[in-house]
Amino acid sequence: MKKKLFIVANRLPITIEITEHQYTYRPSSGGLVSAITTYLSKNDKDDFTEKVWAGVPGCNEATWNSITPVSQTGDFKYLPVFTNAKKYELYYNGFSNSLLWPLFHYFPSFAEYRTTNFDAYISVNKLFAATLASQVTANDVVWIHDYHLLPLAAMLREMIPGLTIGLFLHIPFPAYEIFRVIPKHWQREILSGMMGADLIGFHTVEYASYFLSSVEMTMKAKCDGNIITWQNRKIKVESFPVSIDFELFNNASEREDIKLIQQNYLTLKGDNKMIFSVDRLDYTKGIQNRLRGFKKFLDKNPDYIGKVVFALIVVPSRDGIKKYAERKKEIDEFIANLNSTVGTLSWQPIIYQYNHLSFEELVALYTTCDLALITPLRDGMNLVAKEFVASRKDERSVLVLSEMAGAAKELTDALLINPNDISEIAAMIKQAIEMDTDEQAQRMQAMQTRIKQYDVVTWATDFFDQLQETKKLQVEFN
Ligand code: UDP
Repeated sequence: MKKKLFIVANRLPITIEITEHQYTYRPSSGGLVSAITTYLSKNDKDDFTEKVWAGVPGCNEATWNSITPVSQTGDFKYLPVFTNAKKYELYYNGFSNSLLWPLFHYFPSFAEYRTTNFDAYISVNKLFAATLASQVTANDVVWIHDYHLLPLAAMLREMIPGLTIGLFLHIPFPAYEIFRVIPKHWQREILSGMMGADLIGFHTVEYASYFLSSVEMTMKAKCDGNIITWQNRKIKVESFPVSIDFELFNNASEREDIKLIQQNYLTLKGDNKMIFSVDRLDYTKGIQNRLRGFKKFLDKNPDYIGKVVFALIVVPSRDGIKKYAERKKEIDEFIANLNSTVGTLSWQPIIYQYNHLSFEELVALYTTCDLALITPLRDGMNLVAKEFVASRKDERSVLVLSEMAGAAKELTDALLINPNDISEIAAMIKQAIEMDTDEQAQRMQAMQTRIKQYDVVTWATDFFDQLQETKKLQVEFN
């Protein structure tokens, strides 16, 4: 039977801008957006009559109506959810990013417990539920994404009991000892909210098992393997490591426009070895430990002074939150200090940009560098690691990756490091720079095979297949 698919995420995948007194919009970037839009544009094998993306648009209703955005590829429609700015601030910067984000990334001391934030979180989720309920019928499929919308599935289930609902969490789910620090009734709202879904997906088996133990401990629900029985329903919990469009990245280095940009970076690189990293300015990304590791590498290997440059790209993020703004100052100071003390007029150890890169610039850097240094203290997945590997059609270059990133579970042929071990980061930089090309190729091939096999379309298809399976399981159960 024909049905509609509703993708639900905090934001619509567009950024609205004002230029010369006129509103315009462009597609936004980020891991979640690239994963879903790629799936929607590449997969034509499904049986959905219409695909709709619901989320907050980033402008008010009047502005929205004046520009009426449409998806550029025409693969899906937009369903805007309008909230008032104050409530959105408490829900987004407050509960989502000052409690759930730090706690789920193992930064409990950064977590802020404010009832007003929690109330706004519930209230905005209710708004999502009401907006969706006006469009969704019991025959449709709703796929909810991420930590902003954890209570939504149960709210929708109450309004439309037979609805098929999937939920995917794009960040880690923490061990129970971390989760339990949240006030008990918030724990219950979050877990029972999530259990409104039929299928709950995580990046790794570890996150899935931590979720199951929290469900057992907090809700006293019955779990049999990865199946929860809750309120007379069967709910499946499974791991689906999110992925990328392998072919897009693998073929990009052959594009003439990207080769042109790459020429500029090759000039900048000169005879140096180049280390590269790119991430949002976020305390979870381990940028400071990475810089300390690089400094230690130079201290311990003075022969490399004047022969290695580190291209560090930091993308502005959530600067309305104090913990984020503080990081910027510390990073700026560290870089200025290192460049002025170790650098010379003709060579600077760190080339630093605090700005967003386009896809083309990103791929040009992925394919210019000799090693990518990715050192998050915690990361649900880390798509940059997969994109870098996929881009290296030449099978050259080395990935140095934190074992605290979900991606490390799949990319076991990277040089894995503990991001808190500065000496290990320094030693791995040396090992990567000195690795012979045969070993580079061998490691790259193994990692590329994995990403190619489980690309973003496989990820989403796998999720939908399991969602259908779960529905069958429920029919048998009842
Ligand atoms: N990205 C981008 N431009 C930039 C930096 C990052 O388009 O300047 C994209 C990158 O290609 C990747 C995503 O943003 O798809 C970052 O995803 P990741 O999982 O690495 O980290 P997140 O920011 O989601 O924590």
